Amino acid sequence: MALRQIRIQGDSVLEKVCRPVEKISPRIATLIEDMIDTMYENNGVGLAAPQVGVLRRIAVIDVGEGPIVLVNPVVLETSGEQTGEEGCLSLPGKSGQVTRPNYAKVRAFDAEMNEFEIEGEELLARALLHEIDHLDGHMYTELVEGPLHDVTYDEEEE
Ligand code: ZN
Repeated sequence: MALRQIRIQGDSVLEKVCRPVEKISPRIATLIEDMIDTMYENNGVGLAAPQVGVLRRIAVIDVGEGPIVLVNPVVLETSGEQTGEEGCLSLPGKSGQVTRPNYAKVRAFDAEMNEFEIEGEELLARALLHEIDHLDGHMYTELVEGPLHDVTYDEEEE
């Protein structure tokens, strides 16, 4: 297990458009494993490659049902609307209110480059769209309504 350093908002790597993955090289396979480890270590729901300084179209998500690896994800469909608090590992200690579609359907490749489709509602839809935004250089703060809030870590074990 190897943890990667998470880039913080203001780092220009978070504002760039990522390149597609052509094949799962050993280097990319290690990156995916490290991204999953880094997401869990930081209690995140998702993590995108540019957040660890790599400009590739890769994201990992876990909304409580196990890790999902998304390589070259594309949003196929969205519908509905949800408004809720959103945070990001690249902006620790903050959250803000964001309105996004309530449903998203995404096509991607897994860590073995097998194509699949995933549909999600509520938190999963939010996580999919948040992470895919990162791959195009966008942070949720561009969508925030009103001020950012400080997050209180009542349940965090230190
Ligand atoms: Zn994020």
